[in-house]
Amino acid sequence: MLLYENLGINESGHLTIGGMDTVLLAEEYGNPLYVMDEDQIRRNCRTYTRAMQKYLPEGSRPLYAGKALCFKGLYPVIQSEGFSADVVSPGEIFTAVAGGFDPARLYYHGTAKTDWDIRYAIKNGVGCFIVDNYNELEALDRIAGEAGICQDILLRITVGIDPHTQEKINTGRIDSQFGIAVDTGQAADFVSRSMELLNVNLLGYHSHIGSQIFETQPFMDQVDKLLDFAVEMREKYGFTAEIFNLGGGFGVQYTENDPTISIESNIREIGEHIRCGCEEYSFPEPVILLEPGRSIVANAGLTLYKTTGIKEINGYLNYVTVDGGMTDNIRFALYKADYTMTNASRMHDEQNYFCTVVGRCCESGDRIAEDIYLQKPERGDIIAVLGTGAYNYSMASNYNRVPKPAMIMVSGGRSRLVIRAQTFEDMIACEL
Ligand SMILES: *Cc1c(COP(=O)(O)O)cnc(C)c1O
Repeated sequence: MLLYENLGINESGHLTIGGMDTVLLAEEYGNPLYVMDEDQIRRNCRTYTRAMQKYLPEGSRPLYAGKALCFKGLYPVIQSEGFSADVVSPGEIFTAVAGGFDPARLYYHGTAKTDWDIRYAIKNGVGCFIVDNYNELEALDRIAGEAGICQDILLRITVGIDPHTQEKINTGRIDSQFGIAVDTGQAADFVSRSMELLNVNLLGYHSHIGSQIFETQPFMDQVDKLLDFAVEMREKYGFTAEIFNLGGGFGVQYTENDPTISIESNIREIGEHIRCGCEEYSFPEPVILLEPGRSIVANAGLTLYKTTGIKEINGYLNYVTVDGGMTDNIRFALYKADYTMTNASRMHDEQNYFCTVVGRCCESGDRIAEDIYLQKPERGDIIAVLGTGAYNYSMASNYNRVPKPAMIMVSGGRSRLVIRAQTFEDMIACEL
């Protein structure tokens, strides 16, 4: 029932995270409240750093995909775990740098970079661009030339793999809006053009096949495609890629019905596959980059709401209403994403109240979960949604003028505020 190793129940019958009483945390900091367990984030990071060191070619390293959860105070944690990071916008670059992150360890993604964006990234000393398309390649070469630098780049290529996940988070197919396709022959031209340009330095390839992937086969197929392509480019243009960036996408368990994966054994399998492939083609083993986002932060976070009560429509269904919703967690509205919920105030009660949990917005899509069982709540109980560390705060909005909640970080039995709650004044601060 508790799903993750960092959760527990204390003698008051309250849910705990990292040993701390969530009901007391909500009392102290207010609600809704995002809670992140720093110790769990670090454990998740170490799973990657250890396995990558052990099983992948020398120099291989993880990048944290900041889009999953991006705020200033997270970057020192990620950096101290030896991670590099990927960013997808000047706003993420600004946030990472403001958090003290070394810009040389930033990898800059994005399919629609403007000249201004490119200049901003160069000015801030971003280490590597992941170039998505021809227009960007030409613009980057021109702007890097003006700045008097030679910019390290990876080319984003599309390997045509469908990892059997939901349509909206599936990016590796040939008709993807991201990258340049191998199968159409265009990726080869992309490589040869990069080699002609004087102000970019091509290091290798990037490919990201999707998110919430539970099987290893799609990653093996991806490695095969990248290696075939790299061998072809070596023969055709004499370019030997030093880096393969395999993107992110390792799946995370949100409910008991989801499978679990072992990141360590996945990385071991990928490593063996690369070694064999490289031997077969006598291709030098490339440095492997992985870009986990969700699997670093999702299970380290939860959201605490206060319920405003229940509404029973006799003969139909029961609603539980909470003081947040799609403004702080839009994933149910976007993808019908399932979460595990529990009444943090009554962990010893039976979880037998069949209900649908809805938020405070004037929108029938404002739901957090449908048809679930909770311990029957009373107005004022704290309802916890587990596994909300990824793609919740980073996708939050001010719809219906609901302020974004505060976030706290817990570690070693202590808590600290890392993002204060937005005020009404914050919401009108840009309005003239
Ligand atoms: C979204 C994304 C990631 C992170 O994916 P997760 O599923 O959160 O691990 C990594 N790289 C790229 C290019 C992405 O778009």
